[in-house]
This record gives sequence, structure tokens and C-alpha cells, in this order.
Amino acid sequence: MYRDHTKTIKIGNRVIGGGNPILIQSMTNTKTEDVEATVAQILSLEKAGCDIIRCAVPTMEAAQALSQIKKQIHIPLVADIHFDYRLAIAAMENGADKIRINPGNIGSKERIKAVVDTAKERNIPIRVGVNSGSLEKELVEKYHGVTAEGLVESALDKVHIIEEMGYDNLVISIKSSDVLMCARAHELIAEKTQYPLHVGITEAGTLYSGNIKSAIGLGIILYQGIGDTIRVSLTGAPLEEVKSAKRILKTLGLRKGGVEVVSCPTCGRTKIDLIGLANQVETMVQDIPLDIKVAVMGCVVNGPGEAKEADIGIAGGDGVGLLIKHGEVVKKVPETELLDTLRAELLSWNERES
Ligand code: SF4
Repeated sequence: MYRDHTKTIKIGNRVIGGGNPILIQSMTNTKTEDVEATVAQILSLEKAGCDIIRCAVPTMEAAQALSQIKKQIHIPLVADIHFDYRLAIAAMENGADKIRINPGNIGSKERIKAVVDTAKERNIPIRVGVNSGSLEKELVEKYHGVTAEGLVESALDKVHIIEEMGYDNLVISIKSSDVLMCARAHELIAEKTQYPLHVGITEAGTLYSGNIKSAIGLGIILYQGIGDTIRVSLTGAPLEEVKSAKRILKTLGLRKGGVEVVSCPTCGRTKIDLIGLANQVETMVQDIPLDIKVAVMGCVVNGPGEAKEADIGIAGGDGVGLLIKHGEVVKKVPETELLDTLRAELLSWNERES
């Protein structure tokens, strides 16, 4: 596993790399200058399971707001800076736990050095990010287009610039909205560096297509043992990013905890509103702190058998519903009481377990 051998990097109160758990990042979409709105969003993301938060820092006012924001949140705060090296320095002076820059758009080596010197003084990690949309012209020409090889060369060139300035407290990210190019770039760079990798499919799209692209891209990369932190980028609420990231890690067996709901696809035997029921169950279990599998099945004929691998399940029938534990029917209730019966079972399961 590559991620077992990456360099450990401390970001605020969390450590990534070296086989530490993969952390979930998201990014606020409030104006960072609006401290109250930004803090409120970060607190709701923390509650949902966000481990690291990034805020855009496009102005000096935003950089200064970081010190107020940081006092009111509990997870590491990353400042995202483009173009203006003074904003990167101000963000660190105002308590950023990490900064994300693309050295390619920061300007001269002197400016990059000023940023690196401040990071060095405060031991703040720098995430060096490159993006397929801003790959240097020479690399596009060298590789006859935007390619995984070009992205890797671009990222490593920038890392070397910072290393030559005597700093190696670094994280690398390579972003592309082309899922297969992104996966290939991560395979290549994981062979060439031991810096932790922040992984995400950029500009993945709206909730529907963004989730599919991210699940496939992150799935391919993470399954190969690559990736120390992740972000699911969605054109949508950051809360959805965190929920999707948690689900991706859990599906890959990289994170424990949380109720997993499995449900049948419905068929001609279904006699209840299974789609509605499954959605209600999924919402209901969100706050239940169990690490179990719950099955929601559409018929009493095949439901119990098909729910065998779940810890607990329900199967709906013609006006009646069954409560199932490990494939055995333990209770028969009117269909209208099915959801409440399941909830009561889960809550007492919870009490028994704790
Ligand atoms: Fe059809 Fe029953 Fe299987 Fe659901 S559990 S797909 S309703 S047979």
C-alpha cells in the first residue's frame, strides 16, 4: 500500500500519511469574509464527518477572517490561495493550518520563497496543487496535449522548487476532470514520490454526475492504496460532498462506522412503496451511531432470504411487514408500523451495544 509509506504530515490537530486514516476534506462555499456564515457551515460539516476544511482566500479581508473562524471550529483549516503570495503569508499569520497554492500562478521564485519562508517559520504544510486546466504550455507541447505524464511532471517540478528552498512539509494534489487521466496520474506519481496525496476529481459536476465520476475515480485510486486525504467535488452543497466521501470510504472498507442501508431494486412482486420506505430508512439511520447493515426488502417471499447478510431488515408485504434479523423473521407487524418498529429495534440495539 503506497499510503502506508507516505511521509506523515501534521495539519493542525490531525496527522495524514504513513498509513494514518484517510481524511475527508470539503470546502466552504460561503464568503470567507463572512465569519458567521462560514463558521456555521463548517460546524455543520464537522457534524456530518468532515475532517479538514478549506476556505477560499481571495482577499486580505478573507485572510484576516481566518483567525476569527479558527477560534470557533474544531477541525484543521486550510487556506486556498491563487495568484497573490501576500494572501498566503497573511493566511498563515492568521492561523491557517495548511495552505494550498499552485506555485505556477504565484509568480516569481522570490514570491514563492517568501511564502515558503513563512511556512517554514511556522511549520505549516503546503499543498502543492496542479490542475489539468492550467498545465504549462511547454508540458502540453512536450506530451502532445494534456496528459497524466504532463500533470505528474508539472507537480514534481513545483515540489522540487520548494524542496530546493529547504522545505519538505508538503502534500501534493493533481486534479483533472478526466477520471481516467486522473487515475493514471496518481498511479504514476505514487511511484515517484512519498509525499501524501490529496485526491479528488475536479469539476466532477452536479450531484448526480459528480457522485458517479468521483466514486469511480476515487474508487480506482483508493483501491490501489493511493491517497491520504480525499475530496468529492460537487456542484452542490458541501454537506453532500462529505456524505458522499464517507460513503465511498465505507464502501471500499477504508472507514468503519455508520449504518449501511441495502435495499432491493423492486420488481413485479413489490406490494409497498419500497422506494419511499428505503429513502425514509436512509434518512432515519443517519444519526444512529451503529456499525451495522440494514436491509429494506420489497416482499415477504424473497425478502428474508435476500436480507440474510444484513444484521437487521424489514420486508414489506400486502398490508403487513416483517422484521428480520440475520435472515430470520422475528416479528410481523402492520405495514404502517414497519418504520417505527425498525427504529425502535435500532435504538434498543444501540442501547444494548453501548
Ligand atoms: Fe422483488 Fe422481493 Fe427481490 Fe424485492 S426482495 S426484488 S420485491 S423479489
